[in-house]
Amino acid sequence: MAFIYILENQDAQRIKIGATHNHPNDRLLDINRMWQAVKGRCQICLSWRMLVNGRMPKHVLSMNHCAGSGEPPLEYSTKLAEKQTIDLQGQLPWLSGSDLRSASKRIKNLKKILQTYKENPIRIGGWQLRASFPIDSAYQIEELVHKALAVHLDKEAPFGEVFSCSAEEAISTIEETISQMKYKSTGL
Ligand SMILES: [Zn+2]
Repeated sequence: MAFIYILENQDAQRIKIGATHNHPNDRLLDINRMWQAVKGRCQICLSWRMLVNGRMPKHVLSMNHCAGSGEPPLEYSTKLAEKQTIDLQGQLPWLSGSDLRSASKRIKNLKKILQTYKENPIRIGGWQLRASFPIDSAYQIEELVHKALAVHLDKEAPFGEVFSCSAEEAISTIEETISQMKYKSTGL
């Protein structure tokens, strides 16, 4: 069994819609940690980890010590990530084939993430669990609901799947999507 869930932040007027195999309360805890920067995102490997005194804990990246260890996360500084972007851009003329493609992809991704963190919208309020639906096809439903609400997607949120529509609109979209799927599979 999986769940599709809606978290709501009333102060920020945002909702998050996701699917999980765990209990939605686990996602709620995690999202609040990310929102409040108790958990931060590494400037080098871009993974999320619980911070230690406002810095990234020691961690590995492809079997090696990650250079973002012990450094401030993106929530507090973007210097290392900017340096990484410039270094990668400098390497481009010497790369070809799949190396060139992966470096270009990484630069694009870094720039997008840096933009989000530089604009750094104020993270007000906290997240609460607004609704959850236990359903086997949660991940399929999630994809359809994300598509249906795409115009409301908040691209500046520090994590994905955040929307600016009301929780009511999201709930009715989920309910409609679930009944459409049931109709398709059973004809009822
Ligand atoms: Zn890292």
